[in-house]
Amino acid sequence: MIETDILIIGAGPVGLFTVFEAGLLKLRCHLIDSLPQVGGQCSEIYPKKPIYDIPAYPSILAGDLSDKLMEQIAPFKPGFTLGETAVSIEETDDNQFIVTTSSGTKHKAPNVAIAGGLGVFTPRKPPIPTLKQFEKKGVDYIVKDPEKYRDKKVVISGGGDSALDWAIFLAESVAKEVTLVHRSKSFRGHLDSVQRIMDMATEGKVKLMTDSEVFDLKGNDNLDSVEIKTKGAENTTIELDNWLPLFGLTPKLGPIAKWGLEIDKNAIKVDTFDYQTNREGIFAIGDVNTYPGKLKLILCGFHEATLMVQTAFKRIYPEKNNVLKYTTVNGVNGF
Ligand SMILES: Cc1cc2nc3c(=O)[nH]c(=O)nc-3n(C[C@H](O)[C@H](O)[C@H](O)COP(=O)(O)OP(=O)(O)OC[C@H]3O[C@@H](n4cnc5c(N)ncnc54)[C@H](O)[C@@H]3O)c2cc1C
Repeated sequence: MIETDILIIGAGPVGLFTVFEAGLLKLRCHLIDSLPQVGGQCSEIYPKKPIYDIPAYPSILAGDLSDKLMEQIAPFKPGFTLGETAVSIEETDDNQFIVTTSSGTKHKAPNVAIAGGLGVFTPRKPPIPTLKQFEKKGVDYIVKDPEKYRDKKVVISGGGDSALDWAIFLAESVAKEVTLVHRSKSFRGHLDSVQRIMDMATEGKVKLMTDSEVFDLKGNDNLDSVEIKTKGAENTTIELDNWLPLFGLTPKLGPIAKWGLEIDKNAIKVDTFDYQTNREGIFAIGDVNTYPGKLKLILCGFHEATLMVQTAFKRIYPEKNNVLKYTTVNGVNGF
């Protein structure tokens, strides 16, 4: 049994930063994550993309943000259970929680902070019978390292920000050829990205196919070509190295949805005083929670983590009065 003061479910940026704020109050943390690495969406979905709205970093790659957070929390020696999903929770008579993972590892803590973000990552997959055969053999649902596509012929499908952003990025300086295929004429992404793609198509930097859909994949061991149908036109075959169907991720809370928490549209409802759920001692912070005015941004998750640990502290030391101390005055005193 792993015992700690705050058990954090999800080692994304918000879960990681919780360790720092808890550490300042001398509370120990342990994190569980389904993925084999820390960093959540930043490491799994867009490690090489720059983020521009982290205070004091005019630009930082998402992967570097995860590294910096790990450096920042190192003094507080957090524990990790990686590659295991938190499956069940039970409450003990002494107001503690026992969380068990998919591999049967048990964790005990008086406070549980759910920082599960989008939940267990599940990419939306198009219904193509041969799809599975070419997964990781030409078909990628997530661009982890754009260098993989250097000088390659790439077809991207999708009409949202992810598809537009990667089409622009890869076409500008990485890939040899980029074709963007979208089933409608209108895009869901940011207006400036849509305009940029239209301009690049006019300049011949991107081949744009609207009202079109990839319906079949061909190849032997690896993917060689995709078949595309276009409204009112003949089917086309495009030879390529990679097909990136970027249709987004289905938010799935997974097992947490059955923990007796109030849920609204796949997110956990919280009280904005301390981000506690309807179950005392269970908090929800970061992308996984919802409340009026919620914004799914990293810096908002950092703020939620900071307030949340104050109540976690009071649950462990009800008799102690915690006075806010600046790090400039007290420094960072690790364990
Ligand atoms: C392409 C893209 C660009 C973005 N750009 C920005 C930006 O510029 N600025 C910004 O502020 N935000 C941006 N975001 C959003 C930002 O990434 C999220 O707000 C942030 O990652 C949320 O952090 P989190 O820690 O709450 O959750 P996540 O990063 O989603 O991490 C949650 C973790 O919990 C784990 N988990 C879930 N359920 C379980 C379970 N039952 N057991 C174990 N582990 C579990 C998951 O595996 C995951 O690792 C972007 C997102 C994307 C996809």
